[in-house]
Amino acid sequence: MSSQVRLARRRTRTVWVGDVPIGGDHPIVVQSMTKVPLEDVKATVDQIIASRDAGAKIMRVAVPKVQLLDAFQQVVKASPIPIIADVHFDPRIALGVIKRGAAGLRLNPGNISDKDWLRRIAEELKQSGIALRIGVNSGSLPRDLIERYGRTPEAMVQAALRYTSLMEDLGVTNIKVSLKSSDPEVTVEANRRFAQLTDYPLHIGVTEAGPPVEGALRSMIALQELIPMGIGDTIRISLTSEPALEVRTANEILRLLGVGNSPTIVSCPTCGRLQVKHEEFFQLAERIANRLTGVNLNVKVALMGCVVNGPGEAGDSEVALMVGGKDQVLIYYKGKPYKKTTWDKAEDELVALLSKLTPDK
Ligand code: SF4
Repeated sequence: MSSQVRLARRRTRTVWVGDVPIGGDHPIVVQSMTKVPLEDVKATVDQIIASRDAGAKIMRVAVPKVQLLDAFQQVVKASPIPIIADVHFDPRIALGVIKRGAAGLRLNPGNISDKDWLRRIAEELKQSGIALRIGVNSGSLPRDLIERYGRTPEAMVQAALRYTSLMEDLGVTNIKVSLKSSDPEVTVEANRRFAQLTDYPLHIGVTEAGPPVEGALRSMIALQELIPMGIGDTIRISLTSEPALEVRTANEILRLLGVGNSPTIVSCPTCGRLQVKHEEFFQLAERIANRLTGVNLNVKVALMGCVVNGPGEAGDSEVALMVGGKDQVLIYYKGKPYKKTTWDKAEDELVALLSKLTPDK
């Protein structure tokens, strides 16, 4: 049982992606997507493992060609977490990934115009029991809905309702839905409206959110409205960056919104008082943040550059370091000075202390 803080979550059905439950009162699941060509199985698996280490519970992989089905199967076999296949336009790929171990399928039924193919996909989905994600994106809405509603939240909601009822009519009920726009307010409004009409679990996030800084902030604007409404069962932060950074950002956003359980990192911005190179301090903070993402520890870790604010923040942290100079780094443990060390050894000392803390159950 996670110690994740539960807000009043919207009641949804539970959909399983492999052994990972999504919806119901299960914790919000962080996911990401691989970004290297599937031809390169090793690079794809490496990104999955890095994302898992950062706290991703499931991963999505684009399968753009039928020729890649064998590579997809190799990735599924090597992956430590369930894989969702992202398929567009070609129904043969959809059938192929189901047979090759996909734990979930992301498909827009509107992209499969032939009803016989859609029926065959629905049959395979029912027999395999794998989850279907219907993804509605404001950039690819059906023409008739754009003519009627414009590119509005309502058009997105109507598209999602159309696709979900199409699949339900074919007997597929193991469905989760996403309604995404690159505009946070449109994303919020579409999800809010759709959430009132159905009990499908919702995959939330802002699409094409941007480079890391812009993308994190734009995603936060949407999530800080949706999460407190109890909306959102799985999240992906779309960044123009590595998948592991998407996962780290997702975990940090959830923690800030009170639904995650990961370490709080406090680090000073540095100034002219710092007695080691500021680049080295930045890199240390980045490495520590990477090592701690996905760690199930509700602790505060402080990285401080001098005595101005150092003792105060370090005294309020489970683990901390305060720099006096290359040969004078003071490590704190549970709010108290613990030992003196050097800058070169400080990171390992800090991580060794963190490993002494017991992960929250
Ligand atoms: S803690 Fe010290 S080094 Fe860091 S910003 Fe404050 S004054 Fe500067």
